Amino acid sequence: MGSKKEKVIGILAVQGDFAMHAAMLDRIGVPWKLVKHVEDFEGIDALILPGGETTTMLKFLTERKLADAIKAFANDNKPVFGTCAGAILMAKEVLNPEQERLGLMDISVERNAYGRQIDSSVQQGECPEVSDEPIEMVFIRAPIIRRVGKEVKVLGRSQGLPVLVEQGKLLAATFHPELTGDETIHRYFLEKTKDC
Ligand code: GLN
Repeated sequence: MGSKKEKVIGILAVQGDFAMHAAMLDRIGVPWKLVKHVEDFEGIDALILPGGETTTMLKFLTERKLADAIKAFANDNKPVFGTCAGAILMAKEVLNPEQERLGLMDISVERNAYGRQIDSSVQQGECPEVSDEPIEMVFIRAPIIRRVGKEVKVLGRSQGLPVLVEQGKLLAATFHPELTGDETIHRYFLEKTKDC
């Protein structure tokens, strides 16, 4: 029952480029809702954790008890998609330096691993199970995924490194699909909402 109801995508909006995810979902034509407080989880079917600065985001996540709410949402087998800082938040282990995290996905990530802002880049990555064409990937002070657990599937690589990974309903990208005109990665994530 209720499967015909339109799915609403929550976008964590405490800091970072949440507005670009909203613009992407508008282009695709999917309803979204900004999540700033715990009560905003009401009525959402999936959640996007945007790029930004994890150190700042973590402050809000703790102060507003959002960390526990996100963990409970993911434990309920709801789809969660993290991009860049969002992927860092989702990791089980964070290096450079070690910091708090939600620990949703069995990956280890190294923050700012490509170098400084000036080392940010646009690359052409390969996600063979998601797209036949190479995908334009924007990396901004991005992390590198240094370890993936047995339950984690690598869906995309660039420069030989894993950049798009999946664990059940969880998806994490070290790049920013919301910053290009390419809807492929968001559409792939939205498929995860079909049966929930
Ligand atoms: N450097 C940021 C961090 O470590 C992530 C950057 C991003 O989201 N573009 O929190």
